[in-house]
Amino acid sequence: MDYMQNIIGTFVILLGLVVGSFLNVVIYRVPQKLTVVKGSSFCPACRHNLEWIDMIPVFSFLFLGGKCRYCKEPINFRYPVVELLNALCYLLVYLVYGLEFVTIFYAVAASCLIVLAMIDIDTKEIPDRFNIAIFACGVGAAFLQQGGVSLSSRLVGLFCISVPLFGISLLTNGIGEGDIKLFAACGFLLGWQLTLFTLLLSSVCAAVFGIGLMIARKAEGKTQLAFGPFIALSAMVALLAGDALIKWYMNWIMSLVK
Ligand SMILES: [Zn+2]
Repeated sequence: MDYMQNIIGTFVILLGLVVGSFLNVVIYRVPQKLTVVKGSSFCPACRHNLEWIDMIPVFSFLFLGGKCRYCKEPINFRYPVVELLNALCYLLVYLVYGLEFVTIFYAVAASCLIVLAMIDIDTKEIPDRFNIAIFACGVGAAFLQQGGVSLSSRLVGLFCISVPLFGISLLTNGIGEGDIKLFAACGFLLGWQLTLFTLLLSSVCAAVFGIGLMIARKAEGKTQLAFGPFIALSAMVALLAGDALIKWYMNWIMSLVK
């Protein structure tokens, strides 16, 4: 990395942390139908209004020893995790796609994926607005003709997983409506090749996690697992390294056949 890239990279990380802090507000308030633009932030435990010193991303959590300054209740570990995760995603998107307009759309999409994953864990639902936002990011990238995905690939991606999943959902009720819409939105954002990759990776991850959970809990019947976080994680991997991973996987398969 040259000098300029270091400066921009540092700025991107700081921006990611600040936006990540706002994402925590969104994750907390949207499922409760509270506004995210008005009202000051407060401690969820004691409702005490927070001052700026309580709201510095990651650092406040460390300085306060992971506890609220007013009521000493532990602060959810997820707050700094979301901030760091968002900063990491922003940095990686910047490193992969460079200083282009499309990088902004992909960074916004990354934030949406983080938010909907967390809300899905909390509520087992994915609010439509985040799927619409991801689709809009895809429209933006298509309009710019950047990101290395053709319009035809995006259009096929929009339907190639979402339509079959919708068909399956009519027969069984195992697939959530939000997951289907998420596959449609990510399909347009990523193109069909990376959407297939996302389906494959998310299914494998969910299966491994599900089996691990069953073993850990000594198989006490079925637990409803939110699929959204696995789709979000896989879509993020696809966005950052999907093409390279597909190439590596195909080479590996070919080496086995020989
Ligand atoms: Zn408190």
